[in-house]
Amino acid sequence: MNVVVIGGGVIGLYCALELLGEGVGVTVIDDGPRPGTATPVSAGWVVPSLSAPLSGPGVAGKLARQIVDRRCAFGIRPAPPARLARWLWEFARSGTDQRHRAGLRAVLSLANDSVDAFRKLSAAEEGMEMHHTGVLLTAREPRGLSEAVALLEEARAEGYSGDFEILDQEALVRREPALAPNVLGAVHARAEAHLQPETLRSALIDMVGSAGALRYEGTAVQGVERADDGRWNVVTSQYAVTADRVVIAAGVWSTRLLDQLGVPVPLLSGTGHTVTAEGMSSPPRHALKLMEPNIAIAPFNDGVRIAGRFELGGPGDHTSRRSAGRLLRAAAPYLKRWDPSHVHAERAGMRPATPDSMPLIGRVPGAPGVFAATGHGMLGLTLAPGTASALAPLVVRGTESEVLRPFALDRFRRRDGTGRERPGERSLSA
Ligand SMILES: Cc1cc2nc3c(=O)[nH]c(=O)nc-3n(C[C@H](O)[C@H](O)[C@H](O)COP(=O)(O)OP(=O)(O)OC[C@H]3O[C@@H](n4cnc5c(N)ncnc54)[C@H](O)[C@@H]3O)c2cc1C
Repeated sequence: MNVVVIGGGVIGLYCALELLGEGVGVTVIDDGPRPGTATPVSAGWVVPSLSAPLSGPGVAGKLARQIVDRRCAFGIRPAPPARLARWLWEFARSGTDQRHRAGLRAVLSLANDSVDAFRKLSAAEEGMEMHHTGVLLTAREPRGLSEAVALLEEARAEGYSGDFEILDQEALVRREPALAPNVLGAVHARAEAHLQPETLRSALIDMVGSAGALRYEGTAVQGVERADDGRWNVVTSQYAVTADRVVIAAGVWSTRLLDQLGVPVPLLSGTGHTVTAEGMSSPPRHALKLMEPNIAIAPFNDGVRIAGRFELGGPGDHTSRRSAGRLLRAAAPYLKRWDPSHVHAERAGMRPATPDSMPLIGRVPGAPGVFAATGHGMLGLTLAPGTASALAPLVVRGTESEVLRPFALDRFRRRDGTGRERPGERSLSA
């Protein structure tokens, strides 16, 4: 069997690795990483504890208030109005307590084993940088601290298996001396890890290459077309590869390929920005989630990465000086003992974001032999191993998995009272 994987971000590469483990031939086609690719820009956290969907009771109103303030964590970028409206409508609809909790349980079932999976990978690949210091959810205000505790308690109630510890001001500054003495406290999710995303990507490329995958780089897939013999032609500007099975794992760009197959999905870009800097004095030793500005910090061997913002809508593939400055200013009050003196990378990445914060994994309806693995939003690294291990048996042997049921692509199809699809659905999302 020959499987073509479209996309060489963390999801495509992890799927390729797992498919090779199933003993099939794998070809990975990637045209980049193109500007705005999410994987290399990410903060590298592997955080099952943070599996909660963004949507939830009361969240829609809170985000609406944030849209008007550029300093806040959430923003909107210009996008086709119908597409944006549908996304926001689905987002609001998925914000019930019941759907929020069901989403959390489903995502946890993909995420819970990811630290172990990456631990094994890093043991096999010397150059892969991974740190096992956990994540400190750090707050300066009582409300931020309560939110941090609530996040972890909710995750535990729905199946998160790692432990966590609540630290007061004194204990926190002892544990993480880079923090300013005026932080109030933190929750330490000790089982979590972070890894340097560029080293992860190189490790995965090495592994799929040495396991025998063919890799084509630098050419964009233009479409996936049915061949006369029932197989699929994956067409680029220069060549076509015929495949028994196809996995679309092209991040935020997957929408175009899915649209062509007649399966529109409400997937939009959630642009985030990162700054990587070296600094004076002591850098943080732990990954830090700064609760009030909602910023992620990850200390790597080559500098500290600061990541933030979620700009929903149209493409955002570069970071302005102003966005980078905003991130540094928001982080500064927490890091009084670390002063970023040399910024060596400012980048933007597009998270492939679904309205219910749950990925799209499984069969592409109406296209037998074509599968999708995208829409991992803020958690693509965390969910890559779980996604790949659940998807590969489905692709190769048709083995359906209960774990994948909540992530089916047709969950957003609108139906009328009779269960039939409503007319006009395609034009709404185009
Ligand atoms: C600022 C930021 C911080 C983040 N931090 C974290 C974190 O700490 N932990 C975590 O778990 N997640 C994090 N994420 C989310 C995570 O990075 C993404 O969910 C994940 O990288 C998505 O991976 P992907 O493979 O689906 O897409 P991408 O990484 O975007 O890869 C898609 C690939 O497909 C290729 N491609 C697209 N279209 C085509 C085509 N037509 N033909 C050929 N190739 C094509 C592109 O060139 C690209 O290489 C973060 C994201 C951002 C932006």
